[in-house]
Amino acid sequence: MKRLIVDMDDVIADATGQFINFYEREFGVRVTRESLNHQEEGLGFPNHHDIIQQFPFRETFFQTMQPNEGSQEIVEKLNKKYELYIVSAALEFPQSLSEKLKWLGEHFPFLHWKQIVFCGSKAVVHGDYMIDDLPYNLETFNGEKFIFSAPHNLHINTFQRLNNWKEAGERFL
Ligand SMILES: [Mg+2]
Repeated sequence: MKRLIVDMDDVIADATGQFINFYEREFGVRVTRESLNHQEEGLGFPNHHDIIQQFPFRETFFQTMQPNEGSQEIVEKLNKKYELYIVSAALEFPQSLSEKLKWLGEHFPFLHWKQIVFCGSKAVVHGDYMIDDLPYNLETFNGEKFIFSAPHNLHINTFQRLNNWKEAGERFL
């Protein structure tokens, strides 16, 4: 079996949507997803950028994210065809570890705990394919690299692109 590495935030989990939700709750303004396009993470919001950077350190930020559309069905199918690992650089937000583990248990119950890797740098990760939204995670990877579309990476054209989970299914199933 080929080894497939799949990221969490903004790949199987809608981190962008969670930033939008937290921003609305805090400041009473709901920004559109499109308004964040082509901007660094967090910087697409009209103001309060220092506070936005703190959202991921707050309780429930990771645990109450929605899964990205189609991610559950497609990952469950991929899980039968590939040696699949969910790899998240979760150590950036220490309190996210338990929340992310619970989240995966809730939304991806078919994954074995041995398939979950919470790490600091992804430079140690090896495999055949990696799907991630952040260029710096892909750059150090030894296998074939796929960037998963998120508002902050739409201008990047150095990787093969997967726009959504439907496309990921078509490519890998
Ligand atoms: Mg990510």
